[in-house]
Amino acid sequence: MSTVIAPPEHNVTGIDYAERGHFRYTGPPILDIHSHVMLTQPTDPPNAPPGPLTAEASLAQAELMLKVATSFAVDRIYTMCPAEHIAPLRERFGDRLGFNGPINKKTKDEPDDEAYRLLDHFLAERVEIIKFWAAPRGRDRGLFVDAPWRIEAARRARAAGVRIFMVHVGDPDVWFRTVYTDAAKFGTKPDQYVGLIRLLEEFPDVTWIGAHMGGDVEHPDHLEELLQCYPHLCFDTSATKWQVREVSPRRDAVRALMCRYPDRFLFGSDLVTRHGLPREHYVSRYWCQRTLWESAWEGQSPMADPDHSKTPGESPPLCGVNLPANVLDLVYHANAERLLATR
Ligand SMILES: [Zn+2]
Repeated sequence: MSTVIAPPEHNVTGIDYAERGHFRYTGPPILDIHSHVMLTQPTDPPNAPPGPLTAEASLAQAELMLKVATSFAVDRIYTMCPAEHIAPLRERFGDRLGFNGPINKKTKDEPDDEAYRLLDHFLAERVEIIKFWAAPRGRDRGLFVDAPWRIEAARRARAAGVRIFMVHVGDPDVWFRTVYTDAAKFGTKPDQYVGLIRLLEEFPDVTWIGAHMGGDVEHPDHLEELLQCYPHLCFDTSATKWQVREVSPRRDAVRALMCRYPDRFLFGSDLVTRHGLPREHYVSRYWCQRTLWESAWEGQSPMADPDHSKTPGESPPLCGVNLPANVLDLVYHANAERLLATR
């Protein structure tokens, strides 16, 4: 009997990430509009937001990630982190970081005032973006994108001068076939967009960013319909495994869409700092993002992707979209700079 050692999730193909000859972009520094740069500590839960800061909280992972970002020409990075992380991050990294405050409830019964207190804390820290996370798995906690307390939070944030709101609605199509099979509990995929449309109509005077390509890169025609109807809606390119897996098989349609609406897409990674992550984890996401958007590279994705295959080492194809230089310039930095300057 032989033991198969699974390759690391950040490099299942044994690729040399120093090979970047296919990168074409040489313009101004890239802005990452979607990340989760935080202090980390050994007691952080593996897949949930970190607990209160302790004496062991460290900036080492944030330093590592920002160093890797620099090597990919990514300069300014917007992060969603707990409000009490903002001051230490700002003190250490200064203008390199911008902040996005996620307004959530920990339980279904948490009073609305807790959410407003959280908002006040973020506003006191001068966040430029407010985020509403409304994935189907948050429905049992009442995390609907258009929950009344979120609409009120959006009103208050807007009154305080916030001009950009980010939402997570939807999730990969494949999850609706595997984890979200109970439509009564999670809703169907189209159900996820009802609340978003309500917000878009109620708040036409601010910018809305649909995270992870609006949560529906599987259907570029749906994204186009939304872009057409709502001129104040943009999408970010974050969630690297999802984008690689689903953009690659329909890259011509995605390229055509981005070329028709070049000022509506923003570069994002969705990288999360976690205690003990190796440098190559951060490298893998930025390498794949840049490869996907700016090159015509074709090959097996170096990232493990359990939504593609449970067999270690079996990752999906990565087929570069090869965006034209003028579109790349907008997506990589100019669109975000234009939106953020309006504050
Ligand atoms: Zn995220």
